[in-house]
Amino acid sequence: MTTSSYPDTRLLIANEWVEAEGGKTIPVLNPATGKAIGSVVHASVGDLDRALAAAQRGFEAWRAVPAFERAATMRRAAGLLRERAADIARLLTQEQGKPLAEARIEAMAGADIIDWFAAEGMRVYGRIVPSRNPAAQQLVLKEPVGPVAAFTPWNFPINQVVRKLAAALATGCSFLCKAPEETPASPAALFQCFVDAGVPAGAVGLVFGDPAEISGYLIPHPVIRKVTFTGSTPVGKQLAALAGAHMKRVTMELGGHAPVIVAEDADVALAVKAAGGAKFRNAGQVCISPTRFLVHNSVKDEFVRAMAAHAQGLKLGDGLADGTTLGPLANARRVAAMRKVVEDAAARGAQVVTGGQRVGEEGNFFAPTILADVPLDASVFNDEPFGPVAAVRGFDTLDEAIAEANRLPFGLAGYAFTRSIKNAHQLMHRMEVGMLWLNQPAAPSAEMPFGGVKDSGYGSEGGPEALEAYLNTKAVSLIGV
Ligand code: NAD
Repeated sequence: MTTSSYPDTRLLIANEWVEAEGGKTIPVLNPATGKAIGSVVHASVGDLDRALAAAQRGFEAWRAVPAFERAATMRRAAGLLRERAADIARLLTQEQGKPLAEARIEAMAGADIIDWFAAEGMRVYGRIVPSRNPAAQQLVLKEPVGPVAAFTPWNFPINQVVRKLAAALATGCSFLCKAPEETPASPAALFQCFVDAGVPAGAVGLVFGDPAEISGYLIPHPVIRKVTFTGSTPVGKQLAALAGAHMKRVTMELGGHAPVIVAEDADVALAVKAAGGAKFRNAGQVCISPTRFLVHNSVKDEFVRAMAAHAQGLKLGDGLADGTTLGPLANARRVAAMRKVVEDAAARGAQVVTGGQRVGEEGNFFAPTILADVPLDASVFNDEPFGPVAAVRGFDTLDEAIAEANRLPFGLAGYAFTRSIKNAHQLMHRMEVGMLWLNQPAAPSAEMPFGGVKDSGYGSEGGPEALEAYLNTKAVSLIGV
C-alpha cells in the first residue's frame, strides 16, 4: 500500500494546536511522488511572541515539578510514542521518504531515548564540598538553564528532536522547537505524546516558518537561555555566532564526513555488511553515514566488488511499498547535489562502479552509487555528500589512512575494521572524531555520548554529558547565624 492519510500541521503553543496569526501555510511534498500531501502553518513574529511567553510560563511550572514526577510524565509520553509508532511511521515515510521499517525503528528508538533520559533526570545531583571555614557549608547546585530554543532537521524528524527534547525536559527546562517545514507531521505527533502525557502548558512548544527569521528572533530573545541546533556546518556557525553575541549556551550537532578505514587484516565481509548497510540507511542522509572509504590496496578490489553487489541488491522504491529497502531522497535539492557529486568525481577520473544517476521521472529517486579510485580533489572526498554515494580509495600504510581520515575539518563519526589490537589502539587514539565504531556499524544509544569535534560542532546529545548541557552550576556557601 502506498497511500495513507496525512494531516495538516499547526503550531503548538501552550498545549493548543493553533493557526498562524497571518493564516500563512507552506505545502508539504511527498518525496516519492513530488506531489503535495498537506501543509504546515508558517509562524509570524506575533506567534513567536506567544510561543515564547508560553515557554517562560511552562518553564516555571515544569521546573517546580519534582524530578520523580517529571520522569513519570516522560515515561507516559514514551509509552504513547510506542503505542502510536506504526501510525507515526506512516506519516514520517510519507513526508521524508525513508522505508517504513526504518521510520518505525526511529519512532521506537525515540521512546527508548525518552525513557533513558527520564531515568537519568532523577540522578541530577549537586555536591557538598568540604569548606575551609568550619562554620560554613559549601554546596554545588545544578539548576535547569531555562527555556530552550531548538532547531532540528528533516533527515530524522523524530530522532533529531527527541535527543534534545528528552534531555531538556529531564533537567526541568521548557523546550520550544522549530522543527523542519519539509517533515512537520511526525514531530507534531511526537509532541502530542507529551501533551497527552500531561506536561504543563508551555513546557513544550512547536513552531514552523522561515528558519532564518525564526532563529534570528528566538536566539537573541531574553526568554531563551539555551540554543541547540542540528544541521549543516555553515548554518551552525551562523547560529553559534548569533548565540555567542547574546551569551547563550549552545549545543551544535553539525555535518560530518565519516572515514571508514578497512585495514589489511580486516574481515572484509564484515566491513561490507556493517558499513555497506549503514551507508544506504535513510538513503545516506545521515550525519554519521560512512562516506570516505579508505581501503588497504591488498583488499580494495574485493571490497569494491562486494559493496557494488550490496548496492545492486537494494530495492529502490516508495518507502510505503512492501520490500523497499532504499527510499527516495528527502528533497529535490539532494538529487541535484548527488548528480553534481558523481559528475565531478567521474570528470576527475573516478570509476562509477554502479549507480550514478537519477531513477525515473517522478520523485527524488537516486540509484545507490559506488565510486572507486576517487581522487582526493573530487568534491565527494571533501564535502559531505549526504546521499546514497560511497566513495572508495586505496591506501598502503595505516599512517597514511589516519592522516587522510583527519585531513578534513570535520570530526563526527569514524569507522575502522581491523583484527589487530595494535591497529585498534592506534585508531582509537589518533582519529579526530567524536564517535568511533570499530568492527561494527554505528550503534548510537541514549547512554553513550553523541557529538563531534572540529567543524562537526560541540556538545553531546547522549550520556550524562547531554544533561549537563541543560544545567547551570551554582556555587553556594552558607554560614548559619
Ligand atoms: P541547509 O543548510 O539550508 O539546512 C540544514 C538545516 O538547517 C535545515 O533543517 C534547515 O531548516 C535549517 N536551517 C537552515 N538555515 C537556518 C537558519 N538560518 N536558522 C535555523 N535553521 C536553519 O541545507 P539543506 O539542504 O536542508 O541540507 C543540506 C545539508 O545540511 C546536508 O548536506 C547536510 O550537510 C546538512 N544536514 C545535516 C544534518 C545532520 O544531521 N547533521 C541534517 C540535515 C542536513
